Amino acid sequence: MKPIYIPEPFRIKSVEPLKMLTRQEREEKIAAAGYNVFSLASEDVYIDLLTDSGTNAMSSAQWAGVMLGDESYAGASSYYHVQESAQQIFGMPYVQLVHQGRAAEKVLLPVLLQGKKYAISNMHFDTTRAHVELAGARAIDCVVPEALDTTTYFDFKGNMDVPRLEQYIHDLGAENIGVIIMTVTNNSAGGQPVSVANIRETSAVAHKYGIPLMIDAARYAENSYFVKQRETEFKNCPIADIVKAMFQEADCFTMSSKKDAIVNMGGLIGCRDKALFELIKQRTISFEGFVTYGGMSGRDIEALAIGLKEGVDENYLRYRIGQMEYLAGRLEEGGIPFQSPVGGHAVFVDAKKLLPHIPYYQFPAQALAIELYREAGIRACDIGSYMLGNDPDTGKQLEAEFEFTRLAIPRRVYTQSHLDVIADALLNIKERAKEIKGYKIVEEPPILRHFTAKLAPLD
Ligand SMILES: *Cc1c(COP(=O)(O)O)cnc(C)c1O
Repeated sequence: MKPIYIPEPFRIKSVEPLKMLTRQEREEKIAAAGYNVFSLASEDVYIDLLTDSGTNAMSSAQWAGVMLGDESYAGASSYYHVQESAQQIFGMPYVQLVHQGRAAEKVLLPVLLQGKKYAISNMHFDTTRAHVELAGARAIDCVVPEALDTTTYFDFKGNMDVPRLEQYIHDLGAENIGVIIMTVTNNSAGGQPVSVANIRETSAVAHKYGIPLMIDAARYAENSYFVKQRETEFKNCPIADIVKAMFQEADCFTMSSKKDAIVNMGGLIGCRDKALFELIKQRTISFEGFVTYGGMSGRDIEALAIGLKEGVDENYLRYRIGQMEYLAGRLEEGGIPFQSPVGGHAVFVDAKKLLPHIPYYQFPAQALAIELYREAGIRACDIGSYMLGNDPDTGKQLEAEFEFTRLAIPRRVYTQSHLDVIADALLNIKERAKEIKGYKIVEEPPILRHFTAKLAPLD
């Protein structure tokens, strides 16, 4: 794949200055942070690739919307605007605002899982898994085997393994399964897309056994763009129609608006069933706030109503996915290994292959993330053994299937020059890969340690 650049379909009206530290200063900052990128102050970071969640740049129309936001407790005009946008885009009759994706899960999943034992998904995102478990059920992942092979091309590595899904239903009993969840794009598999054909097959199986199908919809627009590129049936189809084709198969959805809806905070729940919607409203009032604001301020709701539509603009999506493909193309040209083909929101660099001399228990993906900060002030994060942590029973370090250093790209924030800085930094690091050392943990909390642990370089 040659690195082809798709020019930005916008110009810049407001800029946010960045501090440019020297290498010496960066060495001091990362040491003071205990070699944990989560402990760095964001102002000491030049290019922040920690996440694409809530880090989006809003448009001038959205900022104008912020001023028009209606802060009334009940019946605010912004509420009606977001209802209209969401119903139009997703084609679901009932839509509820909440403050972010996990709030949607907290409201909806216990209702679907009441008296049930399992949820099955192409892959559960961490917070989704947590809410399935909090509801007293077990979360089972059922992604196609192609997802686990980082080097071989496959159009839809996010897909559900439908024959295996049906086998699970037989083995576990349909009556024990509360929900089947389709995550689009499949975040945990590297932002990999799911085909509409696969959603249809999954829906047919779910409904044959009377199990509701829920879409975890954080990246509904990026998924639709991949469908347009790769699924022949949709080659000439507008993005908006592809979104409808996907959602038509589902009974309900949860969504983090912090991704494809191009805002900084927000979430949504949608459903078709009136009785279910009544339960969703009641739980929203208890946990989030009255139904017409759902834990959000009116100005953020207004920005969301606009962002939902901007997210499905094809020129924007061509540029957005184009950024990922440009960066991936430059890495491929330079012989840097990554999860291929690249997904919709991040490049996952294969640190196991780039730093083969560092064993999993010395955290190669974390070592690479630290090296990126040293080299160019870039903040990426470890998705590997460092993040996975210790076995809760034996206390021993677990070995992750992959050692990925994730470069998540915020929407509409960085330019081609920034992408070149990232690629050049990785190429420089590759030149001296052999000299890079692993790390040991010197301080760690018992759970979710990667956020706060302190590390030290090994010599
Ligand atoms: C981000 C995300 C969530 C959780 O959303 P928050 O807004 O971070 O609470 C759930 N599912 C997927 C697929 C996500 O990417």
